This record gives sequence, structure tokens and C-alpha cells, in this order.
Amino acid sequence: MSIPNNIKSLYSELPKDVSLVAVSKTKPVSDIEEAYNTGQRIFGENKIQEMTDKWERLPKDIEWHMIGHVQTNKVKYMAPYVSLIHSADRFKLFKEINKQAKAAERTIQVLLQVKIAEEDSKFGMPPQEAIQVLEENVLAQYTNVEVTGLMGMASFTDDQEQVKREFLQLKSIFDRFKDRHNLKTLSMGMSGDYELAIECGSNMVRIGSAIFGERDNSNTKS
Ligand SMILES: *Cc1c(COP(=O)(O)O)cnc(C)c1O
Repeated sequence: MSIPNNIKSLYSELPKDVSLVAVSKTKPVSDIEEAYNTGQRIFGENKIQEMTDKWERLPKDIEWHMIGHVQTNKVKYMAPYVSLIHSADRFKLFKEINKQAKAAERTIQVLLQVKIAEEDSKFGMPPQEAIQVLEENVLAQYTNVEVTGLMGMASFTDDQEQVKREFLQLKSIFDRFKDRHNLKTLSMGMSGDYELAIECGSNMVRIGSAIFGERDNSNTKS
């Protein structure tokens, strides 16, 4: 299979209301160009430096999504151009995104990343805390940050019931607050679990290896 064929088969398979983020981390600019030429415009990266290098070299109508853990001291490099940050998971980071968005004279859209995995997850706001934050609307203080949805990563396991439970937990938080906070995007699902994620209500999937092939092992996790 080639990159264009992989993308086309995903387009034919994904429901109309589900957006595809092509996760191009570790992959060369030439791979992104191949995907771009099929019409794909949303690309996901997990390192700010790498994303910025690629942004500089590629067409400016690409929407760049940051999907990996964000160090606060690097937010400034992506603030001028990033289209969506999926991994906003702590106050210190919201504060910094807000500051750098103001400096860039824009509003930055983010997803609140919630820790739904029962195991092996370092990142994401714990569900109870996320619920409280949404309940009390504390993120409204960050006037140049717009929370447009939620993101979650399920456990890396073959136990489909567990993965489903985790996705459904995020969906229930999404449903509880979507009207009050005008949430649009529920980002969940990767190459190995996107079908289940969509069944559980996802409307944005982040797919890397099923498009670009396996990555170098040293850099597969964000
Ligand atoms: C790498 C990554 C993906 C894509 O993973 P694949 O299994 O290659 O599809 C999706 N989401 C996040 C947060 C990632 O870091």
C-alpha cells in the first residue's frame, strides 16, 4: 500500500462527520507532500520543533495539530501558526498558551486532554478534575484560548472491553458539557482503535502508522 492509497481508503471508510488527522511525526516532508497531494490538509505532530520545521517548509494551507505532550517553554514557537492543540492538560500550560496567543494576537483552539487510560498514561487531566474544571468554567479566564473539545488516549491493550469503557467515559464527559461549553470535537482513536473510537462517538481520529507505515520504535509514543 502507498500513502495515497491508505488515505483514500480511510476517506472511503470514515463517516462524513469524522475528521482525519494524519499523524506525520518522525516522517519526512516528502511523505507529507504525498498525503497533501491526495487532498489531506490536517497533519498531527508530537514535537514542536519538528512541527515548526515542517510548517516552514510546507504549503501554508496545512492545518497543524499538536497532539503530543507540550513543554511550556516551547509553546511560543508554535503559537503563531498552530491550528489545534489536542494535549492541553494542565493549568500551567493553559496559562502559557494564553500568554503566547496574546503575543501572537490570536486565539488558539485547544482540546482538553483527559486521562482515560486505566494504565500506562502519563498525560491528561484526571477525569474528576476535568469535570470540575468544566463544571466551574475556570478555563474562561484564559481569554485567548478556546476549548473546542476533548481528547483522550485509551490504554494500549488488546482488551477491547477496557478500551471501549475508556472511550465511553470520555464520551459521557463530552456529552455532559458539550452544550454548555459549545464543545465540537471529540478526538479519540488511533490506527489500532479508531473503529471502536468512532463507534463510541469520536469525531476526530489521529492516524499515523495506518497511513505512513510503522515508525522508528524510538519515537512512537508522545
Ligand atoms: C503517535 C500518535 C498517534 C498516532 O498513532 P498511530 O498508532 O500511528 O496511528 C495518535 N495520537 C497520539 C497522541 C500520538 O502520539
